[in-house]
Amino acid sequence: MVDEEDGKEYRWETGYEKTWEAIKEDDEGFLEASVTDIIQRAKRKRQEKKQANTKLGMMRHLYILLDCSDSMSNQDLKPTRLYCTLKLLELFIEEFFDQNPISQLGVIIMQNKRAEKISELTGNPKKHIKAIGTLNRTSLIGEPSLQNGLNVALKSLKLLPSHASREILVLIGSLTTCDPTDIKNTIDALKLEGVRCSIIGLAAEVHVCKQLASETNGTYNVILDDSHYKDLLFQHIEPPPAAVCLESSLIKMGFPHQMVTEGTDEPLTMCMCHVDSVDEGSKLTTGGYYCPQCCSKYCELPVECRVCGLTLVSAPHLARSYHHLFPAPNFKEIDYDNQDIVCFSCQKTFMDVDKHVYRCPKCEKTFCLDCDIFIHDVLHTCPGCATNPAILQNNSD
Ligand SMILES: [Zn+2]
Ligand SMILES: [Zn+2]
Ligand SMILES: [Zn+2]
Ligand SMILES: [Zn+2]
Repeated sequence: MVDEEDGKEYRWETGYEKTWEAIKEDDEGFLEASVTDIIQRAKRKRQEKKQANTKLGMMRHLYILLDCSDSMSNQDLKPTRLYCTLKLLELFIEEFFDQNPISQLGVIIMQNKRAEKISELTGNPKKHIKAIGTLNRTSLIGEPSLQNGLNVALKSLKLLPSHASREILVLIGSLTTCDPTDIKNTIDALKLEGVRCSIIGLAAEVHVCKQLASETNGTYNVILDDSHYKDLLFQHIEPPPAAVCLESSLIKMGFPHQMVTEGTDEPLTMCMCHVDSVDEGSKLTTGGYYCPQCCSKYCELPVECRVCGLTLVSAPHLARSYHHLFPAPNFKEIDYDNQDIVCFSCQKTFMDVDKHVYRCPKCEKTFCLDCDIFIHDVLHTCPGCATNPAILQNNSD
């Protein structure tokens, strides 16, 4: 009995958290509110930095470099660091393609001093989610090699045309990296190619990661807890400002129509996207999208035509990228002293506990914090401006 008790390792014995200095208890002694507060404040701060009319890298090619070393089995995130990361990545991938429909993504894992590409750079979210799903059963061994991982990513990013925004996102739990040669050379090569490297650390700040991020114009953050992790990860969904060396060029795109003629039976045809897929074998189907240039058929958009190389999109895909270029104006935080009784959009009555309210500089309507964040995160249009014909008129000029 006694032995069994002794063998147990308690959470408080293993140095559970390292970041409490920044966090304070609220009136009732809970910490939850404090973390939420930090995240919300960070959100607003990021919002303020955003400006209209900046050039953004809209056509993104992003490699996710995932640490699958021994350190990812650590249980400071529940149930393990790896499991938590995989769950968040699944959400991230879906959201990434929702917001960046003409971008591509690839996944590389770092394990036992080696780097392995587990999914190629493509624009199909299902492929990546499936590849990530198999990582659940991978054995976490050895140390990661940041240099090998970066080199694998750089090798395929090098081949991309210069109008593409090239990025690497490193998720690393380990505090060490075991590299074959000097990592400084790799950082210089990345810098030369204009590849932006951002890092999310799961344990503590590491000098070489900081160096890498600052030299390549990326960001480096260390997580506080799982919700902070999600917030940091989801920051990378928005397209970053374009790098200086990014070339502007016009890209030919095709807008396929769905060929449906009322009252006639469509011919059975074979699609190009499933023609050589192993698990979903090709079938003869009716309907689908036809490339306007070479008439090959595809089941889903957006896709790059495999025959003629034309990028095929639908107009809503481009519309979804539009708000990144013309964001809603930043609201000004002002102290609340009974200026307005209710929030303009949700009609919530302001109470004394609302220390701040938020005002749109264009239409001068007042909003609550929840609405401020919702408007800038999801809606991307100020309800006050949208319902004011005079402002709408001005905007379209
Ligand atoms: Zn298909
Ligand atoms: Zn084609
Ligand atoms: Zn509101
Ligand atoms: Zn407004």
